[in-house]
Amino acid sequence: MRYPKIIDKLNGGIITIIQLVLTLHNPIVFVKEYVRINVIIFLIFYGGFMKTLEATCYFHQNRIYVKPAEGTYEMIYRAACGVYWDEEEKALYFLDDPTNYQLSLKHIVLAMKNEYYIDLIITNTFMQCDCNERYATEINSITLFEELKVFFERKAANGVFIDERPTKPYYIWDDGSGHIEYFADKWYRCKSCGCLWEFNYPDFPKLGWVKKYEDGNYTGTDICIYQRKDGTSTLSEI
Ligand SMILES: [Zn+2]
Repeated sequence: MRYPKIIDKLNGGIITIIQLVLTLHNPIVFVKEYVRINVIIFLIFYGGFMKTLEATCYFHQNRIYVKPAEGTYEMIYRAACGVYWDEEEKALYFLDDPTNYQLSLKHIVLAMKNEYYIDLIITNTFMQCDCNERYATEINSITLFEELKVFFERKAANGVFIDERPTKPYYIWDDGSGHIEYFADKWYRCKSCGCLWEFNYPDFPKLGWVKKYEDGNYTGTDICIYQRKDGTSTLSEI
């Protein structure tokens, strides 16, 4: 039969199915064959070419990233699912609605199927956090401090929070001849919602604190710069 050749042409868009059916002496047989052949092509395609690959998901740059166990997938954008490849992270991310991690994961898995015929198996579960229900607080007692310390350390041990070294000071003091920077004791970044917690231990009578930066960007630096005015020794705060 000439059917495979006809199918090739059909799939290549050279002729339409209606034109073909109309020119055949037995259109019903053709349609039956056409469906059968395409089902077989589909089964071979999915059985033979689809492969599974493990991947892990994590929070990075306020987005959900999915890191496949191997390979690079720069062409993923061609799947037109809003999914892109981050060469530095060697991971995939969904651009449109980064805070919706269910949707992000769904689009990433779909894009990999469409573009690379890879069925991603995400091996870790995305942990829900309770950051929304927690607020900044001043630490005015040893008991509260110990409770908070245990809370943060547990979250870090469970993999919900990342224990980060503070990279920005909470206070800068400069008078032109001296420069001092104070850093908090701990930063904890939530892997689930991406917020950043600043935890500064108390040193009584100096109180400690916990502060929250919901978008993950630290903006808590107080800057205190004194400048000597010309001819006087007066200090003024900017
Ligand atoms: Zn969180």
